[in-house]
Amino acid sequence: MIIVLKSDLEMPGDAIQAVEAMAGRYEGVATRPYSYSGRRHTVTEVHLVGPTRSIPTEPFEGLPGVLRVVRVSARYRLIGRHDSEAESLGFDYNGVSFGEGELNLFAGLCAVDTREHVDQMMGTLAEHGITTTRMGAYKPRTSPYDFQGLGAECLPYVFELAGRHGIRVIAMEVTHARHIAEVVDALEEAGNPTGVMLQVGTRNAQNFELLKAIGQQKRFPVLAKRGLGITLEESLNACEYVARDGNPNIVFCLRGVQSHLGEPHRNLVDFGLVPVVRRQTRLPVCIDPSHSVGRPDRAPDGLPDIFHVTGQGLIAGASMVLVDFHPRPEVALCDAHQALTLDQLPRLVRYAGTVCEAYRSVVADVHAS
Ligand code: PEP
Ligand code: MN
Repeated sequence: MIIVLKSDLEMPGDAIQAVEAMAGRYEGVATRPYSYSGRRHTVTEVHLVGPTRSIPTEPFEGLPGVLRVVRVSARYRLIGRHDSEAESLGFDYNGVSFGEGELNLFAGLCAVDTREHVDQMMGTLAEHGITTTRMGAYKPRTSPYDFQGLGAECLPYVFELAGRHGIRVIAMEVTHARHIAEVVDALEEAGNPTGVMLQVGTRNAQNFELLKAIGQQKRFPVLAKRGLGITLEESLNACEYVARDGNPNIVFCLRGVQSHLGEPHRNLVDFGLVPVVRRQTRLPVCIDPSHSVGRPDRAPDGLPDIFHVTGQGLIAGASMVLVDFHPRPEVALCDAHQALTLDQLPRLVRYAGTVCEAYRSVVADVHAS
């Protein structure tokens, strides 16, 4: 059972104490307060854990400062949208807002290879006023003989160039807890010129110790990708792990599911699940058209399939796009065949903006009628 307090209470401590005192009347029931700082409000909840099934809601509903009482199943206790009234809080990080109504385009290198390519990529983003990017330093590869990423070695110039080009947030996958410390050290050393969003790759969606380590730090927000060959519920539980350990600033990313039924695309595109994730959870939803489609082919209308599926995700309410670019895909060391070229960036920016506008107008229309 979750006791949701009124947002922005002046003395939430008093309301929490009142809830705790009331809960104390019921044997075996423990309380856990949680506070979420969203973009507009701070929301405080007191979670009652234990044999809550037979506890009536009315005594809690009558307490001062209580907004409402929600009964929940154990599933997605923290990330879940337990009733349709629950706000999607979103969050701000390093000057960038994430959540409903935003469009965050994380275009960048799947794998950092040279300083020059990072410079060209970020320079092009800056030309188009984009302050977010993706840069892979630690690459989980299927074959041990494939390029494994430059790791900590490239972080100094990636962060320095980010600062120079006004990049505020870099999505970067970490595959081991020690990579978090390496990122922290490199950022400090560079004078914190940028921010990092820690990416949990599809292969690590059930690496529970990594999820706990990422949850235990609050400095960096998290981009959690749907797991490889596991159900949506199993993947969302990865986010619950992160939140359970203390970090609520999570974006969930759909990236296609492994199945030959998606052929000729690399994965079966699963962006039809955007509304499902938004209904079941309060997390902002990202889509990764690059790893879903995995190829540069174009439809007869001239648009690459990667554009088309981007549109499909955005028209369904996704608020973030993670997409691979490379100044010279022919020399890229990882996922070369799915990288868009820099001259395609302005078109993607316009296309994504147009689709988002269409989505907003459709939603406004629904609310107006
Ligand atoms: C990536 O984004 O670079 C990546 C490896 O993606 P995924 O974990 O979805 O395969
Ligand atoms: Mn990749």
